[in-house]
Amino acid sequence: MIELTQIVKRYQQHEVLRGVSLSVADGEVCVLLGPSGGGKSTLLRTINGLETFDSGSIRVSDVVLNAAVGPERDEALLQIRKRVGMVFQQFNLFPHRTVLENVTEAPIHVLKQTRDAAVRNARSILARVGMADKEDARPGSLSGGQQQRVAIARTLAMNPEAILFDEPTSALDPRTTAEVISVMTDLAASGQRMIVVTHAMSFARTVAHRVHILHAGRIAESGPPEQIFEDTKEAITREFLSEAGK
Ligand code: ADP
Ligand code: MG
Repeated sequence: MIELTQIVKRYQQHEVLRGVSLSVADGEVCVLLGPSGGGKSTLLRTINGLETFDSGSIRVSDVVLNAAVGPERDEALLQIRKRVGMVFQQFNLFPHRTVLENVTEAPIHVLKQTRDAAVRNARSILARVGMADKEDARPGSLSGGQQQRVAIARTLAMNPEAILFDEPTSALDPRTTAEVISVMTDLAASGQRMIVVTHAMSFARTVAHRVHILHAGRIAESGPPEQIFEDTKEAITREFLSEAGK
């Protein structure tokens, strides 16, 4: 279980998250939608400990992260980063390492796997995302969609309890977007828990278990996709969907 309770985050005077609570059950795919500037990236970065927050708490299984900075928070952060992976719009692969090295780096250095075990596991994951034949390539020689599939493989190699995706296909053309969405759909079907920020509405409609609309730092509406798309309750949701052309 991932549980966010009343997360508040400020940048100077600006309250970017204004008391966000949500939970993601095991095996659940949750999609976050909402207008630009609403706080989606900040929320994901907060869950993964890339940003501090001002009040509230985050629980990932038995690890609790509170707002107070200190040694307790540092230890909780270490645990959460091992358990929660993140996939970014811009892939963030190591440019000078091969595909295989990108995928084995953290398992060897963070999880202390032997090189042999890490390589074996990486190869099976690369096969799963359709990148087995590219293990010796450098990221720069791959298409954006291929790089994103390697980034997903790198995250999977940590055997995460949940994966956070921040607009994973926004930098991609339609064809490579489809490749990445297909990998994400397979992951969802395998029971991988994920929180996805995306403009890919068909993914939200067909793969998500729950959709949350984040607007101006608050959850405006939450529900199964049928409710959000077909039986919209809130004016904010209606406005967002109409602007998104849905
Ligand atoms: P979204 O991902 O939904 O587009 P963001 O989380 O990126 O929204 O941004 C939410 C708000 O926080 C925006 O008003 C943005 O300008 C502000 N913001 C984001 N990052 C920072 C930062 N590092 N410093 C100050 N303000 C920021
Ligand atoms: Mg964003």
